Amino acid sequence: MGKIIGIDLGTTNCCVCVSEGGNPSVIPNREGSRTTPSVVGFTETGERLIGHIARRQSITNPKNTVFAAKRLIGQKFEGAETQKALDVLPYEVVPAANGDAWIKIRDQNFSPQEISGMILKHLKEAAEHYLGEPVSEAIITVPAYFNDIQRQATRDAGTIAGLDVKRIINEPTAAALAYGLEKSFNGKVAVFDLGGGTFDISILEVVDGVFEVKSTSGDTFLGGEDFDKAILDWMVECFQADTGINLKFDKMALQRLKEAAEKAKCELSSVMETEITLPFISADATGAKHLNLKLNRSTFNELITPLVERTKPPCLDALGAAKLNVEDLDRVILVGGQTRTPLIQEMVQKIFKKPPTSDLNPDEVVGIGAAIQGAILKGDVKDIVLLDVTPLSLGIETQGGLVYKMIEKNSNIPTSFTQIFTTVTDNQTTVGIHILQGESELAENNKSLARFELVDIPPAPKGVPQIEVSFEIDSNGIVNVSAVDKLSNRKQSTKIMPSSGLSPDEIEEIIKRAEQHSDEDDKRKELIKKRNKLEGLVYTVERTQAQYSAYLNEVELKKLRDEIVNAKRALASEEEIKVLESLNRLGQLSKTLSEVIMFNPQSKRGEE
Ligand code: AMP
Repeated sequence: MGKIIGIDLGTTNCCVCVSEGGNPSVIPNREGSRTTPSVVGFTETGERLIGHIARRQSITNPKNTVFAAKRLIGQKFEGAETQKALDVLPYEVVPAANGDAWIKIRDQNFSPQEISGMILKHLKEAAEHYLGEPVSEAIITVPAYFNDIQRQATRDAGTIAGLDVKRIINEPTAAALAYGLEKSFNGKVAVFDLGGGTFDISILEVVDGVFEVKSTSGDTFLGGEDFDKAILDWMVECFQADTGINLKFDKMALQRLKEAAEKAKCELSSVMETEITLPFISADATGAKHLNLKLNRSTFNELITPLVERTKPPCLDALGAAKLNVEDLDRVILVGGQTRTPLIQEMVQKIFKKPPTSDLNPDEVVGIGAAIQGAILKGDVKDIVLLDVTPLSLGIETQGGLVYKMIEKNSNIPTSFTQIFTTVTDNQTTVGIHILQGESELAENNKSLARFELVDIPPAPKGVPQIEVSFEIDSNGIVNVSAVDKLSNRKQSTKIMPSSGLSPDEIEEIIKRAEQHSDEDDKRKELIKKRNKLEGLVYTVERTQAQYSAYLNEVELKKLRDEIVNAKRALASEEEIKVLESLNRLGQLSKTLSEVIMFNPQSKRGEE
């Protein structure tokens, strides 16, 4: 049985971890980094770049570089979240046929699931390389705020990557797991998670290794990127005041400003002042313009205060939902790279009236927790039971368009609830069951999940029949609803599989496309290997030939020199067949060269 990897699929960065022999650890990617940017770049030649390499080329290729796909996953194009995202995304977002927000790169449309699938596949391959064995199972984390559609979309992204997603778990739950295992903590804990794109606050209770999420709240549109943008806007303003040039509409400049803003922000977590230098950022009639600015901690704090303040209401909401006061909390855990900003840490201390804990690396703690969950499922880690919650209430529509809540939000899953209902008119033989998700008392303001009818109820005066309705949510969030007429025992039921917007056929299609690409990638890798070999051979033959030219006759020398020129042409052409032919010919000639060297007296002397 293979290992189950844990993946923190972040808005800005991902982290993949594994637990071996009860010890969770981070799996470095092929470049040796412990986190991988959640970025996919599409080059002019149709190559797909993922991670650091994609992020690096984003400056020169901003329109064809997809980052923060997590902001769009499971979202409708017309939805407020997508519309807000459009402000920060330089690539094109378009409505799909079903109204979902998709990403347009040149003339091809990609669902956010497919983009996330490419990133997950990259992480899967890194894990396989590191572990030296195939990996097919994973735990993936999502923000606690994610609804069912977003969760299912994330699961689909895993399927696209060739991963069997064993569980989708909340990021703060994973973080608490990472801490709980290390410290065998008992008590109530707030997990304050401010990452690249989302903010989540969760209140958990940990008792003897049992984790229970008491409440969750957050803001899916607050994260490190907003902090970068605050600095970026300030840089644009300063530059305009200085030169009269507005960089806001220069996409190329904006990418450079964005990177510089993030770098400055990270530096300001440990130093009081930083310098931002961007040569040749623009030009006007008087020549090239350079950006040179100094940003100190207090100006930075002023810029980000409105963002930092936005973390407070969700924290109070979460405390209220858990029916707790700050004094009831034993610990506050910091998660997410953005929590390294000192003003954030001050705010956390102000809200919760205690210093936060960040013993583990905040960028890695979620991935570590996911790997621990994998080990729990495999049976490698015992004595821990993980309870998860349903993020939204579930209910059915009752008379007059009202909602009867069957399962309250934040209920631990798996869970079930049964309630007896009755008819509202005499001799009513059919009862419609309309399943809803949401917090409103009015059916029309909730999301409709499914409808079914219980028919052939024996005629009886209203209020007499007893219709037993049961809701059951399993540990994967799949909802089973059944209705039984107690007198006739007639039963009807439905299973609600959360849907991400992609049909199974579409997912299959995307997987095929990815395989095709993987074939192309393999071919390209082969070509690169052969080119490298030819390059090496040219280098060696050129040097040896120069050294031993005195021992070669005119014809041999000409042949060698001509072939070196040919090989260089083949390398420049990138045509596989030319590279191969040249490799063969030069290989033969290099053998001849070796023989000459073997038999020449000077080399023999050298061997003595
Ligand atoms: P995560 O989603 O946890 O990987 O967090 C990513 C966010 O953390 C990005 O916006 C980073 O810019 C931010 N971040 C990483 N390191 C630091 C740091 N030293 N100070 C402030 N923010 C940071």
